Amino acid sequence: MVTLKGRFFTDDAVNEPYWWEAAKPTVSADTDLPIRNDVLIVGGGFTGLNAALTLAKAGRQVTLLDAEAPGWGASSRNGGMLGPGWATFDAAMGYGPEKALAIVNESFHALQHVKDVVDREKIDCNLSVVGYFRGAVTPRAYDAMGAQLDRIRKVMPCDAYLVPRAEQHGEIGTDFYHGGLAIPGYAGLHPARYVAGLAQAAERAGAKVFGGVRVTALERQAAGFRVSVGHQKIEAKQVLLATNGYTGSLYPFLQRRIIPIRSAIIATETLPAAVMDRLIPKRRMLAGSQRVVTYYRPSPDGTRILFGGRVLKVTGENVAAANAAHLRKQMLQVFPELTGTRISHYWHGQTGFTFDKLPHLGQHEGVYYACGYNGTGIARASWFGHAIAERMLGIERQHSVYEDLPFRSRPLYYGKPWFLPLAVLFYEMRDRWDQR
Ligand SMILES: Cc1cc2nc3c(=O)[nH]c(=O)nc-3n(C[C@H](O)[C@H](O)[C@H](O)COP(=O)(O)OP(=O)(O)OC[C@H]3O[C@@H](n4cnc5c(N)ncnc54)[C@H](O)[C@@H]3O)c2cc1C
Repeated sequence: MVTLKGRFFTDDAVNEPYWWEAAKPTVSADTDLPIRNDVLIVGGGFTGLNAALTLAKAGRQVTLLDAEAPGWGASSRNGGMLGPGWATFDAAMGYGPEKALAIVNESFHALQHVKDVVDREKIDCNLSVVGYFRGAVTPRAYDAMGAQLDRIRKVMPCDAYLVPRAEQHGEIGTDFYHGGLAIPGYAGLHPARYVAGLAQAAERAGAKVFGGVRVTALERQAAGFRVSVGHQKIEAKQVLLATNGYTGSLYPFLQRRIIPIRSAIIATETLPAAVMDRLIPKRRMLAGSQRVVTYYRPSPDGTRILFGGRVLKVTGENVAAANAAHLRKQMLQVFPELTGTRISHYWHGQTGFTFDKLPHLGQHEGVYYACGYNGTGIARASWFGHAIAERMLGIERQHSVYEDLPFRSRPLYYGKPWFLPLAVLFYEMRDRWDQR
């Protein structure tokens, strides 16, 4: 763990998720891996654990392996913001209005799935519907939000609404935006508590959940699979890959289709209640309309601000500190009064993007997968984990529209997104040009 120093950081600032203060992912003491399994799940985030829960409840003998610890990946590092998928509407329209309607409708199922699991398994994770506000960084961005709402309403009813600049202080204490879009059904949760609760629920249902176990090879056999964990071999009738943004070379089919993109978050030191009331009066989930995304929110206890976005650097000296300073600068654009506020936590995680900007689930040569949440995976990964588990059980209570979509790679892409730095630079320049 790197300790950050300097005037922007508190003396005890850490390069670790703020969420881990309440629920740090841990590895169980049990290292006795079952040799023969009905189902082997690789990856212990929202996808893998929701799948494990559904499969174990159905009586399957399930083993889940995570290379680090269950929940260690994006699932305990994210912003904890989840809501209806209006943002996917335009990408979905590429497949026509009928599919777009089905895709947005499925986002409501996904959200409801999380609410149901949290409720049923009694997971204490601060899940609360607080709404969302996305600020327009230019007047043109505000008009574009209105135009998107018009496009959506031609296809389906939508309860999102525009908030003009003159009224935005009711949503957020800033003059940085030119109005914005409010979405009432959005929720916030504590992601590390949610994922820890899922792991406990899966274990209660009978799944064996291991951390510190990296799967190194996957081999098809006459009846099922032989999986290598270093020198050890494990057999399973079915295998699910739930590795999303941490997908490596284990399965080239997925590696060629997932674009790992790093996202980072900072947490401020605790702020006075009066400041929080002024800056985030409704305790909403928040974002800006930039192409290079920014998203932020109050901590569940309402005492600090967590501010996230794309990273500036991925390699070299002082990466953590440079990225934290960059995010802090973006936070100060929105909330200049936080100039004297220091950062107590800084961290990053890997998201999994796809070339069509949509998530995918299915089966390739007998290997099941669910992935590609494009940075919005709390609800979708949870729902996909459950949905793919039902497919593995041979059940289809609710058809997923994503199963029908082709999952494509691009020529010359083998899992290393060489084009990303250029793309981010290009979009950052366009953001700066728009805001000049
Ligand atoms: C900083 C950040 C902020 C985000 N904010 C939001 C947000 O506010 N709202 C939202 O909806 N989404 C958000 N996301 C996205 C969301 O967190 C992810 O889409 C979701 O957690 C994906 O879950 P998963 O289970 O598919 O993958 P992960 O949680 O990433 O789990 C994958 C796991 O696979 C394991 N693994 C990989 N390879 C192997 C192997 N060979 N053997 C064993 N294990 C392996 C890894 O150790 C890892 O734990 C954010 C993501 C990040 C990084």
